[in-house]
Amino acid sequence: MPVLVMKFGGTSVATLDRIRRAAKRVGVEVSKGYDVIVIVSAMSGKTNELVGWVNETSPLYDAREYDAVVSSGENVTAGLMALTLQEMDVPARSWQGWQVPVKTTSAHSAARIEDIPPENIMAKFGEGMRVAVVAGFQGVSPEGRITTLGRGGSDTTAVAFAAAFKAERCDIYTDVDGVYTTDPRMCDKARKIDKIAFEEMLELASLGAKVLQTRSVELAMRYKVKLRVLSSFEEQSDDAGTLVCDEDEIMESNVVSGIAYSRDEAKMTLVSVADRPGIAAAIFGPLSDAGINVDMIIQNISEDGRTDMTFSCPTEQVARAQKAMDEAKSAGEINFQDLVADTNVSKVSAVGIGMRSQSGVAAKMFKTLSDEGINIKVIATSEIKISVLIDRKYMELAVQALHDAFELDKAT
Ligand code: ASP
Ligand code: MG
Repeated sequence: MPVLVMKFGGTSVATLDRIRRAAKRVGVEVSKGYDVIVIVSAMSGKTNELVGWVNETSPLYDAREYDAVVSSGENVTAGLMALTLQEMDVPARSWQGWQVPVKTTSAHSAARIEDIPPENIMAKFGEGMRVAVVAGFQGVSPEGRITTLGRGGSDTTAVAFAAAFKAERCDIYTDVDGVYTTDPRMCDKARKIDKIAFEEMLELASLGAKVLQTRSVELAMRYKVKLRVLSSFEEQSDDAGTLVCDEDEIMESNVVSGIAYSRDEAKMTLVSVADRPGIAAAIFGPLSDAGINVDMIIQNISEDGRTDMTFSCPTEQVARAQKAMDEAKSAGEINFQDLVADTNVSKVSAVGIGMRSQSGVAAKMFKTLSDEGINIKVIATSEIKISVLIDRKYMELAVQALHDAFELDKAT
């Protein structure tokens, strides 16, 4: 029988009532003839509570015990979901990660899935079981210890199961009814997108549209897993929600698919560094060693052999970036006059695979911002994305103006 993966996030299993509602959705797919793998998150708020308990008990905790504790929320929902299905006469049982087994690396609290042998679950399907309820977010290390995949990791569990079981589709049930052209809280004209390409979703996910864990989209793209994001709170038809799929499956799309933003960015300028071969490596090597997520980079024209180097990073990393640069300066690896941090900027990006074949997107974006009197501080482009840094106080205005300019409120 064809396999379907259905994932229910924390808000979709927050109460016994909601678990019952989710189980009914599962029952509908079972009656269509699917064998279903259900991936569950912990009840909403549970994981935060568990993390809090660990921190309170042991601020410099042993990461293996952190995982033992925070993975437990999913165990509860997996068992409750299996019981609920059994009450509905659907043959179901629960599986914890280690029982499947979901084999991961030993990077505790940020483990990666290495392998999911399908044999155990397939054997049960062969015996008449119709639903395998699997605790998301967790696995087992080569040392036999429980691991977790990082916050939001049950999305990644779901996609990995869909790949391992060659599922027809992976449905992600959540508290929103799909992926939007921009954040609906910021722009009331935001529209739900019916279909979006993996690459676009990846840009939107990493830019702060927090619907799916970024890693889950990377995995879906690699294994071509059809992903559907939909609401567990609405009656669903077969084409509900947003389908995240290969771009070949999208016939017609807007040049720009969405406007993403990241509120808390910082613009860092190293004033007067020597313009010589190796200078970029001498600056960005130490920043990368310090774990700074540098995004945009600009080197100004040089005068008398000296230049300014500007880069952007999240505001929360500014202090660490400053420290890394000061240390590199003390060690004589780089020399600069000053490091100026502007922490009042935000990043706004237009994303769309249509940009590959159509020109003029950048010009339109810059014109739109200039018509609103918004000054652009830094620009960066990729094949399918144009990002600008602007003063934070204009962020909302910029998102709305760009959403209008690219007519994202209209479907193609
Ligand atoms: N319960 C975990 C978290 O809150 C994993 C998940 O829900 O995806 O991060
Ligand atoms: Mg989530």
